[in-house]
Amino acid sequence: MTNRVHQGHFARKRFGQNFLHDDYIIDSIVAAINPNNEQALVEIGPGLAALTIPISKHVDHFTAIEIDRDLASRLIENPSLKGKLTVIEQDALTFDFNQISHQSGKPLRVFGNLPYNISTPLMFHLFKYANIITDMHFMLQKEVVTRLVAAPNTKEYGRLSVMAQYYCQIIPVLDVPPTSFKPAPKVDSAVVKLIPYKNKPYLVNDIKVLSRITTEAFNQRRKTIRNSLSNMFTVDQLSELNIDPNLRAENLSVPQYCLLANAWK
Ligand code: SAM
Repeated sequence: MTNRVHQGHFARKRFGQNFLHDDYIIDSIVAAINPNNEQALVEIGPGLAALTIPISKHVDHFTAIEIDRDLASRLIENPSLKGKLTVIEQDALTFDFNQISHQSGKPLRVFGNLPYNISTPLMFHLFKYANIITDMHFMLQKEVVTRLVAAPNTKEYGRLSVMAQYYCQIIPVLDVPPTSFKPAPKVDSAVVKLIPYKNKPYLVNDIKVLSRITTEAFNQRRKTIRNSLSNMFTVDQLSELNIDPNLRAENLSVPQYCLLANAWK
């Protein structure tokens, strides 16, 4: 069995707790973030402060959101972080990130070694705040990073690829092996940087429509879009948009999904 006790804390599986303990990886992540005081830094899931303490050396003050009450108390008590860190004991999935931007008067830079069980819904939650976020650095399952950057016509290309690439430029930063964590996860990990576009390359009038189209298309990704999108578009409508009705969800590019979203009435 993997050792679940780290620094006297018993890692809670339900909170996706795998604590970083590899100094080379930690230094590389801090260097990639390149922290400064110009934006408001926000860490999601600081845990036992593996990233929090080295980051704190570069900025006057920042915010961390931690769901685990025991870990939140440890962070509040941590002498190295006194006066530097505001700890919000809350579920990041329901947190209103506008609060921090309003209070600080600054755009946000969000980072974290994310709990893998909620990383995708968390990114979708954060995309809603893309207009107040300068960039995001996340440790994710490597497979999720592959899906984030996937191009059309590949099996990794899916709803997450389309929605993430609609909002952000996405740059893989670093691969991380299981041995860098305690307990070691069963999967490989990777750090990725997401930069929300100030001027999006393709605009949709209603993001909910893009969200619905990608859901319907990729929920039935083996079907042709003439079938999977039949609730929303006729074959004639698809053809008028120059989109072949015999394509499957994975064959459509991000601009084609945006075209569909703007054509839907
Ligand atoms: N940052 C630490 C590190 O790198 O060692 C811990 C990373 S661990 C993978 C994920 C952290 O996110 C844990 O501290 C866990 O308690 C916290 N967490 C899990 N679910 C959360 C949620 N919904 N909102 C906020 N924090 C959460």
